[in-house]
This record gives sequence, C-alpha cells and structure tokens, in this order.
Amino acid sequence: MAEDDDRGHPLECRQIAELLGDYFDGTLPRRTAELLEWHIDGCGPCVGFLNTYRTTIRATRRLPDTPMPHELKKRLLAVLKARLSR
Ligand SMILES: [Zn+2]
Repeated sequence: MAEDDDRGHPLECRQIAELLGDYFDGTLPRRTAELLEWHIDGCGPCVGFLNTYRTTIRATRRLPDTPMPHELKKRLLAVLKARLSR
C-alpha cells in the first residue's frame, strides 16, 4: 500500500470513467484532473469515451433550463464504463 505513490501510478480506463463526472462538474482535485487528462492524452478508448460524454452534455445543455438529469448522467457513465472495462 503506497498511498503517496499515486503520481506515478497511471489511472486505469475504468477509473477515468468514474472520475469524468466529477471532472466535468469541476469538483475533481486538481492533481487528479491532471492525471486524468494525462491518461486520456495517450489512450484512444478514453478519447472516444470523452467525446461521447462531451457530446451528450452539449446536447443536453442546448436547453438552458434543463440541466443534464442526474439519472441520465449516471446511466451514461455506467454504459460507457461497461464498454471500457470489457
Ligand atoms: Zn484509458
């Protein structure tokens, strides 16, 4: 158990999926956000994941009074997560 070793410990794709929700909410700690960006930079599947996520968010935000429903977000993340961890 090396809790202080997370800097050199790459995130796994399925962790990315878990963190993206917070990432887009802006609630992710800066260091974790950096790790996430660093991972996505070199990971094709995660780039695709991110694009899907972004597109969905953008689509829902076109309606200003309709924030992305929490349930929808959760379901989307679950679907994408399942796809990544196959
Ligand atoms: Zn990845």
